[in-house]
Amino acid sequence: MYKWKCGPVTLFQSDLYMTNSIVVETAECVLVTDPCWLPREVEEIRSYVQDILGGRRLLLLFTHSDFDHIIGYGAFKGAEVIASRAFMDKSEVEREEILEQIRTFDDSYYLQRDYEITYPQVDHVVEQEGQSLSFGDLQLTGYAAPGHTNDGLFTVVEGAGLLIAGDYLSDVEFPYIYDSSLSYEATLGKLDLILSRHPVTLLVPGHGEAADSRLEMERRKQESREYIHKLRTAAASGSQKAVDALIAGCAFPRNMSKFHKSNQELIVKEMAAGAGS
Ligand SMILES: [Zn+2]
Repeated sequence: MYKWKCGPVTLFQSDLYMTNSIVVETAECVLVTDPCWLPREVEEIRSYVQDILGGRRLLLLFTHSDFDHIIGYGAFKGAEVIASRAFMDKSEVEREEILEQIRTFDDSYYLQRDYEITYPQVDHVVEQEGQSLSFGDLQLTGYAAPGHTNDGLFTVVEGAGLLIAGDYLSDVEFPYIYDSSLSYEATLGKLDLILSRHPVTLLVPGHGEAADSRLEMERRKQESREYIHKLRTAAASGSQKAVDALIAGCAFPRNMSKFHKSNQELIVKEMAAGAGS
């Protein structure tokens, strides 16, 4: 699943849903994000990290709490975990639901893991917008990114020019909105602020290919915004044909149409409640 290495950044991409796991190295630290999905894939990342770690500090960042993104946590016990306040504040019931999704997934494919499935215990919380966290020579800046889920995080790795976007700004997925379309739009709006504050040269989304130009980052943002606007209009018109047409030509229609349908349901509910109109 090793895909490429560019300076301090190494990308691993799962065969499942093109999910990205990133390893970033500095002189003093190794940072791993969202190690996933399949047991052999998690093991590949774990052993890569073990080989390069030396005496460096090991940090594990979660972009959000969707089960596919935290599934590899147990293989990195001992790492210091970084996540958002909302990620840490998930209730026992919510945590159990997420873990149950992992168990259901593993049962579905008869997958065995040599580590325990548990919810990540957070050591370093991003509490404030634009908060910096320093780990020796590794400096991260975090921005809350709700909309997809309520606990998403945009993270800039200073010095590496890297923006870790979680499940936003993908080139393969249109917005998957589980939390709120208004929050989703506000999160997309933060891209400009982040690009104006930080010398970002590489954006890695949770799924799909990285973007290495600002033009491409902007294009993705615009495309996501348009999708949400058009979905509101089409859903309000009551024309299912107009709704369906929005994802014509998408990459994996048999699966993606389900997410489009849930987006439609969520947006209809929001509009009925008077939001987003
Ligand atoms: Zn995801």
